[in-house]
Amino acid sequence: MSPFLYGCKFMLVNLLIYSYCNYLNKVSNNSLYYLGDWHTHLSSNLLPSPTDYKAAQTLASYLPEDIRFSLITVIFNHFSPKNFKVYNYTQKRILKEVNCKII
Ligand SMILES: [Zn+2]
Repeated sequence: MSPFLYGCKFMLVNLLIYSYCNYLNKVSNNSLYYLGDWHTHLSSNLLPSPTDYKAAQTLASYLPEDIRFSLITVIFNHFSPKNFKVYNYTQKRILKEVNCKII
């Protein structure tokens, strides 16, 4: 994918995320905020990708400061969904792995 198309795709995704966050906030009368997502990776690499980092940074920028660092993302192995990792977007602007298990 060319850098231009990648940039356009990223901007479109950001616009959709922004619209979705605003929608959730509006329909809940400012009581709900988007706090995270989950998705799969098509490999056993469950580390956040550069796109995952950009998405987390973008989402965090739309959240009120008091909940900004509650943002999480959960990454599953597409072929083995029992394998997953959970990350929290921290004040250091990184996605830090959180110990989590299914009980
Ligand atoms: Zn990812």
